[in-house]
Amino acid sequence: MKAVGSLIFGLVLTFFGEGAFGQSPQQKAVPFHKTGILAEGTEWETPFFASDSGVEGPTVIITGGMHGNEPAGAEAADQIRHWPVVKGKIIVIPKVNQLALAAEQRRIPKFGNELSDLNRNFPKTGTPDEARTELGKAVWAFVKKQKPDWVLDLHEGFAINRQNSKSVGSSILCHPNAQTKPHFEQALAVVNASIDDPQKLFQLKSETMTVNGSLVRASMERLGAVGAILETTYADQPIAVRIRQHRLMVHRILRNLGMIENGPDQLVFRSSNETTRYVAVFQDVGVGGTGPEKIRQKLEAMEGTFETRIIGGAEIRNGSLDDFDAVIFPGGSGSKQAAALKESGREEVRDFVSDGGAYVGVCAGCYLACENFSWGLKILDAKTLSSKWARGRATLDLEFSNEATAELKLDSKKAKVLYVNGPVMGPANSELIPDFETVATFKTETAKNGSPKGIQIDSPAILRGTYGKGRVVGISPHPEQTDGLRDVLPGLLEWGLSAP
Ligand SMILES: [Zn+2]
Repeated sequence: MKAVGSLIFGLVLTFFGEGAFGQSPQQKAVPFHKTGILAEGTEWETPFFASDSGVEGPTVIITGGMHGNEPAGAEAADQIRHWPVVKGKIIVIPKVNQLALAAEQRRIPKFGNELSDLNRNFPKTGTPDEARTELGKAVWAFVKKQKPDWVLDLHEGFAINRQNSKSVGSSILCHPNAQTKPHFEQALAVVNASIDDPQKLFQLKSETMTVNGSLVRASMERLGAVGAILETTYADQPIAVRIRQHRLMVHRILRNLGMIENGPDQLVFRSSNETTRYVAVFQDVGVGGTGPEKIRQKLEAMEGTFETRIIGGAEIRNGSLDDFDAVIFPGGSGSKQAAALKESGREEVRDFVSDGGAYVGVCAGCYLACENFSWGLKILDAKTLSSKWARGRATLDLEFSNEATAELKLDSKKAKVLYVNGPVMGPANSELIPDFETVATFKTETAKNGSPKGIQIDSPAILRGTYGKGRVVGISPHPEQTDGLRDVLPGLLEWGLSAP
């Protein structure tokens, strides 16, 4: 879709010395490819990304994923690393603690209690300048070498601090002076302006020093850096919202320092000549389960083909879809997803597809695309055949069309697929939307909870159509969670992206 300026792509990392990473930055048009590996050669190795504007200014280090059960910080850092830097240097380590992130647990797997919390392994007040554990030592040596002016470490608490003082969730932990305090106060004001519920507002916690042994405290004490631990709250808040909270806070500070010029909802920066397709995966209210992450992992594994970003209603309302090629709405609740988008967000999605973007809706995302809901997008000429949606969870038989079997390179036109309350559909015969084409049909059914029997067999399970210049794929069951069918969604996405 819209090609965003590519001014940054040649400016990466001159301060590390050209050639240090195996290629000069000019050779590749992909922005911010891995610029180096921390703890290289060990099981802890993790990439860092660095952008040097070439203009004198502060050096800011941003870290995420220090604790493995706090994914929003890692995801936010991974988005922020794409921002073009116009002054100073920004160095991002998005996933500091890769093994803990993979295990989705706070502590470093396999260490005893004392060493397992990475953010207690940095030099403590009044002790020798030594970090502990192989990973802690590697991170500390790297951070010291950068001589940072600022260190911002992105975390998540288990509860919102103003509701539960046992957690530091939804707060900015800092120890500012008169000069730096306004930055934190403004970051607080910006993030709080995005929150409707007064019980969920962030707080500035600046009276006490950040925890002893943390990267931020060590950087403040030993390197003279300005530091802060930014904390969202993972309980009961969708990840897109938490990522955005981090992004808003970091954005305010970087803007104040004059280091960036982009807006806070800029999720993608792309060069005009790259072939990577950018896919937004909706993970706001109304999205549940492990499906979205499975989709992202599958697409990201196709290196050079797809890059994905988590997106929420706020970003969509602010026009972020313009920079993407496709959007995926995963399973959960269609009406709740619609509510999270709000009317203006739904209009943005319709405009996105109408202008040539691809839409893939799975289960709830397929309901969302249908024609017959007041809250729906009405971009697929299909309607549900019954208002009783709780048909249950079952493994059902599917039959793909001959054309789809060949196109998707399936071994057989028959397959078994996981189904969880997805829409049972028929033609809506709308005058405004072109007819859909059936990709696969249900050959068996489930009809629990008093839902009508006999309507699911031979109804379209996977269908596709056009809307304006764009293409829409509706998937009632869950091929992305079914062994043997995991390539179906990427295959249909490719079709969606090949609109003339
Ligand atoms: Zn943490």
